[in-house]
Amino acid sequence: MLALREWLRNEKRLGVPHWPLPTANALGATIASRAHSTDPRQAECPGKRSAPPPTTAATGSAMAAGTKADETAVVHDSAQLKTLSTSAASLFVDDPDLPPLCQRELSAAEAAAALADLDARFVRGCTKCRLHAGRTQTVFGVGHPRAELVFVGEGPGADEDAQGLPFVGRAGQILTRMIAAMTLTREQVYICNVVKCRPPDNRTPADDEMATCSPYLFRQLAILRPKAIVALGRPATQTLLATKAPITKLRGEWHDFPPPALGMLGLPPAKLMPTFHPAYLLRNPAAKGDAWKDLQLVMRLLGLKLPPSRR
Ligand code: SF4
Repeated sequence: MLALREWLRNEKRLGVPHWPLPTANALGATIASRAHSTDPRQAECPGKRSAPPPTTAATGSAMAAGTKADETAVVHDSAQLKTLSTSAASLFVDDPDLPPLCQRELSAAEAAAALADLDARFVRGCTKCRLHAGRTQTVFGVGHPRAELVFVGEGPGADEDAQGLPFVGRAGQILTRMIAAMTLTREQVYICNVVKCRPPDNRTPADDEMATCSPYLFRQLAILRPKAIVALGRPATQTLLATKAPITKLRGEWHDFPPPALGMLGLPPAKLMPTFHPAYLLRNPAAKGDAWKDLQLVMRLLGLKLPPSRR
């Protein structure tokens, strides 16, 4: 910069016309406005601020964590993405091609538009993991765009794949009854899954499939900004809490979301309650009592009361 000023002064002495040097702040603002004004990914969260970029130290520590097989790391560096997404199944890999997470509260109308935009522009045509090959359609999520309560399962089954809606099969009927027992309706909550495409033969999604798809889920949660999240079953719980601990150790008590391993994403905070997946409850009706205890804790947090006839 000094050499440039000296050169300009010399030009001025020689009578060459020139323009004033921008101040450091003005230069930064110009660069920032150019970076954002032409970026088509900025349209999905109206009036939002961009998510803070990860620091070098944060990325470095995430990489260090990634060397341990049972830990989850967040990786933002696009150069590392390709290698990690194919070689490190336990890592959460944020996707640099996606828009930044929404950083402000949206109205219900804005949130509905932002969710629809995320679905239409990024999820519906997604081929980022092998699950796209067997799907009829993606299953994005359904419900109130500013729901206080969000249910997250692991992935669509055959009925969901056919209808494009989450939890509409037999397990979905159980979930609808669970929601009704909480004195709510499906329209008052939001329901989605970690992976948006049906795994073949309804198998559990693989770790690398959930890692590849979860950036969509985190963007949904950043738009929704729920007060409480109910993680249904092991895969959803482990993904949202970035842990490999078994659900039997995690259910029945509140957890802070996001966990420290996902802290650098800038996700809005929520309380997270893990409980059994409705499909598990179909196979193990004896576990319904424990699941109901979990849901009653959620009701208490949300200020919901059972009608006198059910107390
Ligand atoms: Fe894309 Fe998710 Fe479907 Fe994989 S499961 S293809 S990441 S939408």
